[in-house]
Amino acid sequence: MEALRYGSRGNGVLLLQLALRREGSYKGKPDGIFGTRTLNAVRRFQSSAGLIPDGAAGPKTRAAAEPYILGYVTHRLRPGDTFYRLAKRYGVTAEATAAANPKLDPARLPVGEEITIPLPKRVVPTDVPYSSELLGYVVRGLTARYPFIKAEEMGRSASNRPLWALKTGAGKRTLFINAAHHANEWITAPLVLDFLETYAEAYMKRGTLFGRSAAALFTETRLIIAPMVDPDGVDLVNGAADAEEYGRALGIAEGFPDIPFPSGWKANILGTDLNLNYPADWEKAKEIKFAQGFTRPAPRDYVGASPLSAPEAAAMYAYTRAQDPDITISYHTQGGEIYWRYGDIEPEGAFNIAEAMAAVSGYRAADVPEGSSCAGYRDWFIMEYGRPGFTVEAGEGVNPLPLSLYPRLREDDLPLMAAALEAVTKGS
Ligand SMILES: [Zn+2]
Repeated sequence: MEALRYGSRGNGVLLLQLALRREGSYKGKPDGIFGTRTLNAVRRFQSSAGLIPDGAAGPKTRAAAEPYILGYVTHRLRPGDTFYRLAKRYGVTAEATAAANPKLDPARLPVGEEITIPLPKRVVPTDVPYSSELLGYVVRGLTARYPFIKAEEMGRSASNRPLWALKTGAGKRTLFINAAHHANEWITAPLVLDFLETYAEAYMKRGTLFGRSAAALFTETRLIIAPMVDPDGVDLVNGAADAEEYGRALGIAEGFPDIPFPSGWKANILGTDLNLNYPADWEKAKEIKFAQGFTRPAPRDYVGASPLSAPEAAAMYAYTRAQDPDITISYHTQGGEIYWRYGDIEPEGAFNIAEAMAAVSGYRAADVPEGSSCAGYRDWFIMEYGRPGFTVEAGEGVNPLPLSLYPRLREDDLPLMAAALEAVTKGS
């Protein structure tokens, strides 16, 4: 691993800045550019961590900074350690430490054993661009700090990145929320992760989630989040793809000069639009999109060689069948609308749930615009199961929505997801 130093740029620098901001050495906004401020921050951090303050972030410095991205440190218990003393030393609550180590008896801490100490900041960052690498840290951080969240791989992307799913809850009825089917709608990834962490915190503190008992929700439901269905595409849009991927995608994009690159990229890294790759009137979607000129791999709107030809869509399909969810939500941007039916199919209860979600978010329960409904995940889910499946088009603006809109999205969409979780407790 090459050291990051003055003049370096990219996702590695961004993650380093994020870590040092949480640690306190870096005061600026993470921007992926290693300039004078980052240089000074790295030196400060190295001094306080007992490293040589040369200002270059090599393996040792990055390893020392990593806990601040993850949101926890691993501590080997020494004689005299108590939850109370550890909490004081690391600036966290004894409650959070106990939650992260549910099997430990605080009265008899086993000396020599490694335990997880949650750091006092939240795991999920919501003001930096996402990448598959950052998501990997978030998955590790959430599952370590909240052991009642389990992570699993649904499969692998075209470029072999993991397709993560995070699960929590002990109930029988399941809400499955997925996000970032479309690369340049990546802001939906932090949004659904933020919801999961908000719920986990409420459950840990025996509190409420938008007025509902988190413990009751936990007992009655299972929540599954697939935060980034298209990790390769997200990395492309946010400058975290490798050179070969970037070159290949650029080659595809050059045939579509009207679509900005890479900010207009919605597809997977091989140019298949994942939300047009499901077996729900796929032939009809193909006809419509071919007529619009999307007859080959493209930054968006190419339906793929056949239904489920993209590994990401195939993984979602297989995972959904295995988990058998009662309700699904697919997060997209933008438009402030909730799509709740597929053609003439109106799953029982779907409209009422859409109205409940609309009431708390200010979005509108709406019909899909003509010509854009076919071969999507929601289309397939409704057709296959006849159960409520929703597409939420979050926010208003031009994709990719800027991070400056995030606080507004959070305000609208966290209550929306809580309303869906409440809805899944009802019905049979
Ligand atoms: Zn979309």
